[in-house]
Amino acid sequence: MELKEKIAFYKVCFDSMQAGILVFNNERDIVLANIPISLIFEYSSEELRKFKACKLFKNCGVLKNFIIHSDKQKYKTLVELIGVKKSGQEFPVEVSFGKIEYEGKPYFKLLLTDISLRKKREKKIKSLNYQLEEEVKLRNIELEQVIEKLKKSLSKEKELNFLKTKFIALASHEFKTPLSAILSSTELMAKYADLNNFKKRNEHLNKIKSMINHLNNMLDDLLTLENIESGEINLNITKFNLNDLIRDIYKNSKPLLKKNQQLTFNNNDDKEIYHDYKIITIILTNLLYNAIKYTNEDGSIKVEIKSNKKNIYFTIEDNGIGIPINEQNLIFARFFRAKNALYYPGTGIGLNIVKGYIQNLNGAISFESTENKGTIFKVQLPKLNTYEQESITN
Ligand code: ADP
Repeated sequence: MELKEKIAFYKVCFDSMQAGILVFNNERDIVLANIPISLIFEYSSEELRKFKACKLFKNCGVLKNFIIHSDKQKYKTLVELIGVKKSGQEFPVEVSFGKIEYEGKPYFKLLLTDISLRKKREKKIKSLNYQLEEEVKLRNIELEQVIEKLKKSLSKEKELNFLKTKFIALASHEFKTPLSAILSSTELMAKYADLNNFKKRNEHLNKIKSMINHLNNMLDDLLTLENIESGEINLNITKFNLNDLIRDIYKNSKPLLKKNQQLTFNNNDDKEIYHDYKIITIILTNLLYNAIKYTNEDGSIKVEIKSNKKNIYFTIEDNGIGIPINEQNLIFARFFRAKNALYYPGTGIGLNIVKGYIQNLNGAISFESTENKGTIFKVQLPKLNTYEQESITN
């Protein structure tokens, strides 16, 4: 190949490179630039040859530095710079530097690639990654919340199951006494039927009724416990006279009275009220049955009911076994039974339910007790307001 041909051949090779090649001297004058450099920076070859290499970059510091330190590092690793097109548009480029010598003079070559597209993609990937991370963070938070909720409901469920199991164990024991009392009463009734002794028959009939009531109350306690636990107390508000409610309670509690026990009701209120009949019955029955249970024969129990515009007040007083002073602070805890109560039947759940209901109704309960002297429980329940009354009557 002739020299002329060779030069032309080199030029073809030089211009057909994919990367831009830029050669400049010590003064940073451009001495050679291939066609890709013209295409990338949008200058013609003639224009380029009149410039200093610095004109093509936003910051010339890197070029100057390279010229100064070119002997230390012959080929620098890839460096990212900001290129400036003829239009003034800035764009990212990746360059690698090298030093060459020609006829005893140093020249500096620069291999350059336009990385706008790559940067755009990287930016997009970065923002997608960021979005993804944020989404994952959000999902994690949601997941943690769901796990926390599940944990809570699981432990609530576990606790409820534990309570039910414990209650059933206690209650099934408690069921045996009334059931055997019912059995013996029915057997005796059959006997008296033969003898035509109506008085005795009626006594046993009443005993059976009261035992069935007792069993019913225990079952009610179990259901109530579940409702209080799950916070689902749906009030069923109706209009009624407290006298009627007290008459019902009195009728059901009479057969429970022990020999010579005195039960007196004192109701100074004959007005009709709007309230939940069943809940008030549960509260009063629990407190009254305890008073009967924990008071021995010949004892006396007094129930007093008062009310004013805002509240209803109940007091249930007995002269029974009382609550030992050192156990009084535990009396509303579930399953708690005082030492002196252990000879009497019971599950230790009634007062806990009573307190749960009273709290739900924004009321209050307190007591005073002296061991071997007696106990007085005081309950205050707010009357329901006019709005609730209206909404029920309408
Ligand atoms: P239970 O009567 O089934 O044991 P309660 O929750 O109704 O359960 O009562 C809890 C405990 O409070 C009783 O075991 C007893 O020790 C004490 N208590 C409640 N009422 C009285 C009362 N009138 N006199 C003495 N002790 C009482």
